[in-house]
Amino acid sequence: MEKLVSRIKQDGRVLGEGVLKVDSFITHQVDPVLMADIGYRFAEVFEDQGITKVVTIEASGIAPAIFAAQKLGVPMIFARKAKSLTMDEELLTSSVYSFTKQVTSQVSISRKFLSSADKVLIIDDFLANGQAAKGLVELCQQAGAKVDGIGIVIEKSFQDGRSLLEEMGMRVVSLARIASLENAQVSFLEEDA
Ligand code: 5GP
Repeated sequence: MEKLVSRIKQDGRVLGEGVLKVDSFITHQVDPVLMADIGYRFAEVFEDQGITKVVTIEASGIAPAIFAAQKLGVPMIFARKAKSLTMDEELLTSSVYSFTKQVTSQVSISRKFLSSADKVLIIDDFLANGQAAKGLVELCQQAGAKVDGIGIVIEKSFQDGRSLLEEMGMRVVSLARIASLENAQVSFLEEDA
């Protein structure tokens, strides 16, 4: 997605250890116009799949996911990282190792929001080693829901996430694919959509 790639070139910053900082438009301050374009693009790509729910993980997946859900005319669910006192129903849970925080945490969704009748589009901001997306797939599978696709805003294609998810039989669509962050330079592969 040309507009996203230009924005990454303009405002992304490469940190050591293969991490891209995009806190001025995605992960802290959020550009709502760009997030709407991204969400609508995912909706366009997956519009014929009969999606019934968009599922993401807090916090940075929420903005693109909400716009995709709005366009598809379905609810958006975000998996929660900390268990809230108000989550008193039965929970679907899985453990996710965080690439950026380097800790394992439990993520959960109330069982009442997902069922075997659902066809799910998973959306996340980054794909690195695939642990966050895999955790979301597992939550959907616990509910018997079918995952019909995974939409990623920024894929770091030099890490293993895509192959892990494809080996699980998932269709992965990324709007920006990064080939390398070496020498503090961002270089891109051709994106999917
Ligand atoms: P994975 O689970 O695929 O290893 O990592 C995905 C998660 O880690 C994303 O939800 C995102 O929060 C975070 N993440 C991974 N790589 C980066 C990165 O280069 N920059 C930022 N800002 N977050 C990242």
